[in-house]
Amino acid sequence: MKIYLDGKFVDQADAKVSVFDHGLLYGDGIFEGIRLYQGNIFRLDAHLERLEYSAKALMLKMPWSRQEIAEATCESCRQNNLTDGYIRLVITRGVGDLGLSPWLCPTPSIFIIADKIALYPAEHYTSGLSIVTVPTRRMNAAALSPAVKSLNYLNNILAKMEARQAGALEAIMLNDQGYVAECTGDNIFIVHKGEILTPAASQGALKGITRDTIFDIAKEIGVPIREADLTRYDVWCSDECFLTGTGAEVIPVIKLDGREIGSGKPGAITQKVLAAFRRRVLTEGTRI
Ligand code: PMP
Repeated sequence: MKIYLDGKFVDQADAKVSVFDHGLLYGDGIFEGIRLYQGNIFRLDAHLERLEYSAKALMLKMPWSRQEIAEATCESCRQNNLTDGYIRLVITRGVGDLGLSPWLCPTPSIFIIADKIALYPAEHYTSGLSIVTVPTRRMNAAALSPAVKSLNYLNNILAKMEARQAGALEAIMLNDQGYVAECTGDNIFIVHKGEILTPAASQGALKGITRDTIFDIAKEIGVPIREADLTRYDVWCSDECFLTGTGAEVIPVIKLDGREIGSGKPGAITQKVLAAFRRRVLTEGTRI
């Protein structure tokens, strides 16, 4: 596999960063997870826009233009003869000393890994996921905004470990007020009385690129959609529930905390959304 690293393509074995890189020492950096479908990168511009937002939030000045990063992303797919896959684009603060000070890191690093995708097992897309609520709360935006896709993912990792210990593949994280924020690596939606509802970013949700796509799909299929404050009761008592993410795409949820949601089967609106999503990824996108 060829990895793009600071302007060059290198073999996987040579794709190394310094132990003094603050991305490694402090999680000081940002990233994007992007999908490639049949030679088209899905919503590349939206990913790069979010990357720029994250960079700005961390006062990380990127010395590359959006066009340069886009070109390096496409080239990473071409170099690896990929037509379908998952692209991890990472920017670190770069090499500094052992102190926190980002201003002592003069040059940010960029690397891009274009690889195959490991999805949730296929049967969950037809039979639905059982998920749990975990005790670890989503970080407060006043500490570190969940809207920043930073390399500091311990909050989500701790929640993911709790999910696994409870025998679930994904978990709901509540914010510090007890409202549903999102899942450890996915956004969450419910269907209630024919309406699609999802927590706002201000409740601790990442502004997912797939989440944005669901708003477009809802318009396309004529189902009302809006942001709403959701409690666990709202999810337990919803008619349908599904999760979205670049890796997960659209995946139905049939149980939360051992309680059946709706009929206990993937719902009709969820299935419509999933089908529309699968159509959309094949027609939208940047040709590599
Ligand atoms: N929430 C979190 C915490 C995430 O890490 C992700 C990305 N895996 C998402 C939501 C979904 O965002 P996107 O649709 O942009 O992949």
